[in-house]
Amino acid sequence: MGDITCKFGGTSLADASCFRDVIAIVKANPKRRFIVPSAPGKRTPQDRKITDLLYAWHRIAADGLDASEPAHIISDRFAELARDLGVSFDIERHLKEIAEQVTQHATPDYMASRGEYLNGRLMAEVLQATFVDPADCIKFTAGGELDPVTYDLLGQRLEGPGLFVIPGFYGSLPNGEIKTFSRGGSDISGAIVARAARSALYENWTDVSGFRMTDPRIVPEAKRIEEITYQELRELSYMGATVLHDEAIYPVHELKIPINILNTKSPESPGTLIVGERKSKNPVCGIAGRAGFSMINIEKALMNKERGFGLRVLTVLDEFGIGWEHMPTGIDTMSIIIRDEELGTSGDKLVGEIKKFCNPDEISLTPALAMIATVGQGMSHHVGVAARLCAAVAEAGINLRVIDQGSSEMNIIVGVEEQDLQPAVRAIYKAFENWD
Ligand code: ADP
Ligand code: ASP
Ligand code: MG
Repeated sequence: MGDITCKFGGTSLADASCFRDVIAIVKANPKRRFIVPSAPGKRTPQDRKITDLLYAWHRIAADGLDASEPAHIISDRFAELARDLGVSFDIERHLKEIAEQVTQHATPDYMASRGEYLNGRLMAEVLQATFVDPADCIKFTAGGELDPVTYDLLGQRLEGPGLFVIPGFYGSLPNGEIKTFSRGGSDISGAIVARAARSALYENWTDVSGFRMTDPRIVPEAKRIEEITYQELRELSYMGATVLHDEAIYPVHELKIPINILNTKSPESPGTLIVGERKSKNPVCGIAGRAGFSMINIEKALMNKERGFGLRVLTVLDEFGIGWEHMPTGIDTMSIIIRDEELGTSGDKLVGEIKKFCNPDEISLTPALAMIATVGQGMSHHVGVAARLCAAVAEAGINLRVIDQGSSEMNIIVGVEEQDLQPAVRAIYKAFENWD
């Protein structure tokens, strides 16, 4: 109670010097008792993340090829970390075990989880903390959902005094097999630990000082957001603001545990506080976008009068096992926006099947779209947000392919061609940067 859970991202643990910064942060506040590390990330922009190397190791070995290159790079990096940190932990023995497992058909999830596991073991030794293996207490159901029993199991393991280290990114299935969350999932582990430990605060330590109004790789001067609600953050992270995994909100939301996004390289700088309700009432708090969408455009005269038309279209999608993201409609038109990873190579077949089953006047498939979400809970009380947004995009000479405003009125989503993603995000950011 009153304690803090701290999750440290891969870039914050990339080498021994970063590790030492993290240790100083943990030691600076005795309330920081539950520590969730990721696997070592990139030391330079050209470097490789340990998690990517572990997946590569698995892939190459599964193809029956010589995986000694990724295996060596991983060994060297962990051995160097252990040496520089002066720990006695027998990293060699663990790496040998991983190498053995990979020859015995280890799953990709098992392999990927080893980055967090080993980093957790190193961290626990350096901090003289109790190591808690998530395989024993972060449980998934056979269907791959988080099993709520996790909170009790983990809560029991986190009782007692002192520091605890719980590696991020993974847990286990009912049959004991390791299962990971999706990429970036240590943020979710951190939220689960914060809830199980009933922490007063979840600190998410990364390589930027807080959440910016938009991706700093697109707009380097993007303003820091002081406060943002869980819901706004989820919308932004889902649409590509990768600083926090979009599913990290759920475990902490119910208990109203605030999340603070902070920078390991600048621990005193103010971050972003994620809360149930924010004080500032500015209509737009952030903009995020991502490429990789396709849109099916359907036209049929008097579509609005044809009972069951939408149902038939969605039935075809369901038969293909394809989920959809957005569905803006008009009286005679309907567009369905689908993620490319869902659609795979089924685009033409799907269009053919809708044609057969629903008999539209026109149907086409637009590939290579990017979707941009402009998010803010104040939007519903503010006149002119959509007008300002569209004007900004038009002034930048960018063609808007689609607009969708969900019923929550905290989100306007526009679709542009993929090559227009960055200029459109810049234009929208400029339009709302100073709009209170
Ligand atoms: P970690 O390794 O700590 O988990 P991530 O790489 O997952 O870090 O997330 C931090 C990165 O998210 C930043 O370096 C930044 O490039 C990117 N990012 C994307 N959108 C935003 C945003 N709106 N605000 C801040 N950072 C963002
Ligand atoms: N190491 C994992 C990844 O690269 C999990 C994480 O970083 O959150 O996706
Ligand atoms: Mg991350």
